[in-house]
Amino acid sequence: MPSNEQRPLAVLERKVLAKNDQVAAQNRQFFRENDVVALNLMSAPGSGKTRLLEATLGRLGDRTPLAVLEGDVETANDAERVARTGVPVVQLVTSGACHLEASLVREGLDRLPVPRGGLLFIENVGNLVCPASFDLGETHRIVCVSVTEGDDKPEKYPAMFRKALAMVLTKMDLLPHVDFEVDKAVAQARALNPGVQVFLTSAVTGEGLDAWCDFLLGLNRTGDDAGP
Ligand code: MG
Repeated sequence: MPSNEQRPLAVLERKVLAKNDQVAAQNRQFFRENDVVALNLMSAPGSGKTRLLEATLGRLGDRTPLAVLEGDVETANDAERVARTGVPVVQLVTSGACHLEASLVREGLDRLPVPRGGLLFIENVGNLVCPASFDLGETHRIVCVSVTEGDDKPEKYPAMFRKALAMVLTKMDLLPHVDFEVDKAVAQARALNPGVQVFLTSAVTGEGLDAWCDFLLGLNRTGDDAGP
């Protein structure tokens, strides 16, 4: 009786998501009360999220309070890289899970100085599927795509792009060497999410980073237009 065997699993999944949503709501309330814009950075592995973050933090400097939560399946490698920028950072290790959960973010917040009136970057685990299902309580979602990936990523992974405030194309310095059509990727993202902001960036040359940082500094801190 396969259908009966599957039913308890479905119920369990709903419970896990409901519990996550509860903690996510608490996180969202915390961010609002403390005037923090929390950004959930998502992408496939190797798209350059951490490199973008390093370049972004360096540019933002002391223009606004900053803090970072680094999500990875294992290691503190990325937190160590971010720590060199001088910005407070905590590594969140999921020990095998393919996405961050709201409760892990909550634990990380307890160990970070609160960037009141500023920005909290939450770098999610590299994965274009699982993180889309787990609300962290973030103010906004940001999705990164590197030009070394396929330009049909939005079409293949629509859930990730539908709720993103912005799509950041990374590694634009490599564009001459790869078969990636920027217009195609942007058109697919906008078909799913007409209001998505698009940034074409390279952490190597600095392309697009000033516009990206200006956008971050101008974000609406109430987050009323965000959330899943
Ligand atoms: Mg990383």
